[in-house]
Amino acid sequence: MIDKENERVIADFQQRLLDWFDANQRPLPWRRTYTPYHVWISEIMGQQTQIERVAIYFERWIARFPDVAAVAAAPEQDILKAWEGLGYYSRARNIQRAARRLLETGNAIPANHQQLLALPGIGPYTAAAILSIAFNLPYPLLDANVERLFARLADIDDPLKQGSTQKRLAAMAKALLHHGNPRNFNQALMELGALVCTPKKPDCPLCPIQDYCQALQADTVDIRPLPAVRQQRVDIVMACGIIRHESLYFIQQRLPDDIWGGLWEFPGGRLKEEESPMQAAAREVAEETGWQVLDLAPLTTVVHHYTRYRVTLHGFICHLPAPLTAPKLTAATRSAWVSLSHLSDFPYPSGHRQLVAALQRQPFSGNE
Ligand code: SF4
Repeated sequence: MIDKENERVIADFQQRLLDWFDANQRPLPWRRTYTPYHVWISEIMGQQTQIERVAIYFERWIARFPDVAAVAAAPEQDILKAWEGLGYYSRARNIQRAARRLLETGNAIPANHQQLLALPGIGPYTAAAILSIAFNLPYPLLDANVERLFARLADIDDPLKQGSTQKRLAAMAKALLHHGNPRNFNQALMELGALVCTPKKPDCPLCPIQDYCQALQADTVDIRPLPAVRQQRVDIVMACGIIRHESLYFIQQRLPDDIWGGLWEFPGGRLKEEESPMQAAAREVAEETGWQVLDLAPLTTVVHHYTRYRVTLHGFICHLPAPLTAPKLTAATRSAWVSLSHLSDFPYPSGHRQLVAALQRQPFSGNE
């Protein structure tokens, strides 16, 4: 392992990384100016999302909400719509809550760890990322790319998530940090992990720090880091009713207190034991609206993968008996009857968004 006392070695290690970053960094939009607002948004979007995808969402977001004041002033529906497809919607709601709080204190994103931590949705990692990348302050960063790179650099043969390994990695990040240019140094480590020291096939001949890599010397690159114990994905099966009435479709807005709070959906839920998807759709609609639907016909089934879950969602077109009554909502704050072309104006969780797309591709499938 690189020894902290060996200042010349550390200086050389740092310089190699900085030079490599100068020549190889990707032209990501928040790197143009390193505006604190831009860095903040990119960091929140980057949680759980690949960087190329973040760049697309980021450009759209900044065009729609160019600054903190624009985020604070926007209707929540616009915020959720701009976030649609990134998942984990509490992140978007927290950005808006933080923006509103910032406005109360003068609109500036603070260059202070404690003050950043006090903002909704900003934890220790994000605070350190904003401080080092936006403000160029000496806070070390350990993301998954850097953890993997360090595990190889120091040939660590303990599981990454083990407490003692985390302490060791944190100590390395602190000891190796370049205090003159933490912005580029932190990004160089992350970028090298993303582009060269990749999970499956690291390109060691291109690596600027290969001379210091203990796994390369020990020929253990392929087995570093130790593989994590795989968590089994949990299967969830759901069904929903896509209620059509005179060319309009019924959607409802979810209650605010869950991860999809504020998003819209077709009424539905999980299958009970020994229940068919069609039975579940009819029961769920009845429970959530008080309506007994008729003529259920399958539209499509979509599958969506989350970190720990695989959700299979069956969508059924259905109708209501006349005369039409008002819904008695039990799982939503409000509802709307919407034309097919306007359905996509609303933000949805991924599965329901796919149902909307399927509906728009074949509007009369099974519903006439
Ligand atoms: Fe990663 Fe290879 Fe560089 Fe070692 S030499 S840090 S394994 S890319």
